[in-house]
Amino acid sequence: MKIKDKYEKEGPLYSFEVFPPKREGDLGNMVATLHELAQWHPDYMSVTYGAAGAARGMLTLKLAEYIRKELDIEPLMHLTCVGYSQAELAEILARIEAAGIENTLLLRGDRREDGEMPADGFRYANELVAYVRSKHAFCIGAATYPEGHTEARSLTADLIRLRDKVNAGADFLVTQLFFDNDAFFRFLETARSIDINVPISAGIMPCLNKAQIVRMTALSGASLPPKFRRMLDRYEHAPEAMYDAGIAYACEQIIDLLSSGVDGIHLYVMNRPEVVQAVTRGIGRTLQTVKEEHRGTNAG
Ligand code: FAD
Repeated sequence: MKIKDKYEKEGPLYSFEVFPPKREGDLGNMVATLHELAQWHPDYMSVTYGAAGAARGMLTLKLAEYIRKELDIEPLMHLTCVGYSQAELAEILARIEAAGIENTLLLRGDRREDGEMPADGFRYANELVAYVRSKHAFCIGAATYPEGHTEARSLTADLIRLRDKVNAGADFLVTQLFFDNDAFFRFLETARSIDINVPISAGIMPCLNKAQIVRMTALSGASLPPKFRRMLDRYEHAPEAMYDAGIAYACEQIIDLLSSGVDGIHLYVMNRPEVVQAVTRGIGRTLQTVKEEHRGTNAG
């Protein structure tokens, strides 16, 4: 089923993001992880696409296919265009289609300093989105950044590029992780005001330790609100307390987002089922209640 239809029919979607193992030999463990994750019935599971080229991309495809066939969960296969020629992308897209995958998250990927750019390669994700839209029937997701992409001159400039990406054919958006819901609400209001009207899932990554957050914020540019900083400083040397506080913080973010009518929660699960278990318990019946109300409104 196309994910854009799920947003409409099923209300706020609860999705999980996983990444493939580094080596093919670790696929067995990964499959066990997927089965554990499936217990919480995500509306879709997304699988990241490694920057390291075709071999890793094929693991992404294998896992996405497994999720569809063996778990009966909708997979969302990520695909990055950086470094690929159009012919290479056409081949990968044909394989994704042949595997029966209907949903793709189309990305540029991070450019490497030494990375070669094929003459007909795409420079930005909106070009990939337009290309795929013109040749395939995939439901297309794309990335967005509530606090602006790290390369963008300003959030406004980034939002204008985002609108180009949606106009090129993106059916829904998934955000970069953030810890400041107010920043997300401001971003959402501006996005809607410039006619970005597709569903937007909020990316949430539970904080499990300070080193992880320092690494992730360096990569993502996400800001740390004062109460989040206080939590990091207070529990930095008490790993178990930090874990509990990080889960509680993520749950509070999710409940606030659901209360405010968010289109979806995309959980960066870091391939750790116990994190999903803790978060799903922590948000209790909030998600189910909002989903049921949405279905009731749609039925009426
Ligand atoms: P774009 O939409 O192309 O934007 C990149 C930058 O270029 C932005 O600053 C934008 O404002 C600017 N821009 C866009 N169009 C133009 C234009 N026409 N002219 C000038 N500037 C422009 N990376 C991976 O390698 N694998 C993954 O699986 C993966 N999954 C992700 C999932 C999510 C939900 C998110 C948020 C990110 C993910 N990333 C992944 C990271 C992503 O590849 C990087 O953030 C990358 O730097 C940007 O990708 P994009 O698709 O957002 O790029």
